[in-house]
Amino acid sequence: MNAMSTIQAKSQAAVPTKKARRVPTPRIWPVTANDMYALLIGNAVLILAMWVRHGGLAELATTSGIFTAAGEISALYGTYLILIQLVLMSRSPWLDQVFGQDKINAAHRWVGFGAIWLLVGHAILTTVGYAMGIGAGPVDEFLTLLGTYPYVLWSAVALVLFIVVGFSSVRAVRRNASYETWYFIHLYTYLAIALAFLHQLFVGVDFATDRIAQAYWIGLYVLAFGSLLVFRFGQPIVVSLRHGLRVANVVEEAPGIASIYLTGRNLDQLPVRAGQWFRLRFLTREGWYRAHPFSISAAPNGRFLRFTIKELGDYTAKLQRIPIGTGVFVEGPYGALTGAARTRARVLLVAGGIGITPLRSLLEELPASRGNLTLIYRASGPEDVVFKREIDELASLRGATIHYLVGRRGSPEMPDDPLDPRSLRKLVPDIGDRDVYVCGPVGMTNRVLATMKRLRIPDRQVHYERFAF
Ligand SMILES: Cc1cc2nc3c(=O)[nH]c(=O)nc-3n(C[C@H](O)[C@H](O)[C@H](O)COP(=O)(O)OP(=O)(O)OC[C@H]3O[C@@H](n4cnc5c(N)ncnc54)[C@H](O)[C@@H]3O)c2cc1C
Repeated sequence: MNAMSTIQAKSQAAVPTKKARRVPTPRIWPVTANDMYALLIGNAVLILAMWVRHGGLAELATTSGIFTAAGEISALYGTYLILIQLVLMSRSPWLDQVFGQDKINAAHRWVGFGAIWLLVGHAILTTVGYAMGIGAGPVDEFLTLLGTYPYVLWSAVALVLFIVVGFSSVRAVRRNASYETWYFIHLYTYLAIALAFLHQLFVGVDFATDRIAQAYWIGLYVLAFGSLLVFRFGQPIVVSLRHGLRVANVVEEAPGIASIYLTGRNLDQLPVRAGQWFRLRFLTREGWYRAHPFSISAAPNGRFLRFTIKELGDYTAKLQRIPIGTGVFVEGPYGALTGAARTRARVLLVAGGIGITPLRSLLEELPASRGNLTLIYRASGPEDVVFKREIDELASLRGATIHYLVGRRGSPEMPDDPLDPRSLRKLVPDIGDRDVYVCGPVGMTNRVLATMKRLRIPDRQVHYERFAF
């Protein structure tokens, strides 16, 4: 029995037993990281040029003017970073393709903190600059600005909201709050942006009197919000309506781990690659407002999408018993952990625990000839190894090599770290000549990435996904 027929045997009731069909792959966008950096830097230069055109340099003649100028510049770049944040949050396919979600998340974090510091800097520097200019105290000046300048009170409220959002993202706070709390606090960002917008247009010295500058600034907002609307809302609505996905079957793979099969209309026209993931929103009364990310755990076949989900918290616990027939709203596919990222003929897949899901689908889809494809599957105990039969069958079918590394680190059966440089090189001597795909819990993924650095594997050969935001 081969791997495909194993799947069919398990899900026969819901999934018709037809051959896999060829599925289109997501479009490859003709953009590179350098194009993105050029666009970012180009706009940053334009913003500075706009400030100079409006007489910014003349302000530098006095101490109060220097403070005011620094306040203006921090406002312009703070807002620019907020707009970049919107684009980073938009889930644009070209950003996803060029950087991958992991790097986007890291950028989102640091751009966010940068923006908040600049906006706080704007409030302080401008108040001090104005106060020095008229010989007033900074606190009095601050109260005057709040009470008399149009929209300043609104933007002060916006700044407080930005600070609350930033505070909720500080690691120590984030660790102690649920994902949902953190997410809902983040929604205040939109209110903050709306509150601050009029302040910039009607009080900002660069926009109040210059129509061209105003049009440029509004254009940046339209671009940022446009990508958000198109990719975050438009594309998922179109895909979900077109394919009408429903739960077709739920199969227990191991205690606390279930595979959910989704079927729908024209799935052979849904562009997706092995290794990618979707945000799934199961349309039940208690769950419709929550979308969680899950990777496909079988290569796309035009007939069903399979997700394999480990019970980790309240939501994933409920999914183990999701009723057959439940409608599913999908966002995606996302992720750059795909065959498109490959640079070498040989590939090493390194999976940790439930991080096997995208790598299991890659094991099925990546081109294989004898010796080309190796999977290392790390798990704490035998109960954490899923798909063992499928993986063994795929391996013999495709000539892949599989190493199961099962046991707790430091236990008698596994005293050393099996993913340290020496052990990995022993297991896969030609590792330097392979693309390495890594997926697993954050700690394990970070350890493997550190090993790759110590083995001097070039970054372009290392592809990874962490199962956490
Ligand atoms: C790109 C990606 C692909 C993934 N693929 C799989 C997979 O194939 N199989 C699998 O079992 N798990 C996968 N996960 C992990 C899975 O999304 C979480 O385990 C699940 O969302 C936890 O939800 P919970 O409410 O049950 O647990 P909780 O205890 O509430 O959350 C546990 C952790 O999961 C993360 N998380 C929770 N809710 C969300 C959310 N809405 N969006 C993003 N992250 C969230 C947070 O880091 C949180 O600390 C993937 C995660 C990512 C980022």
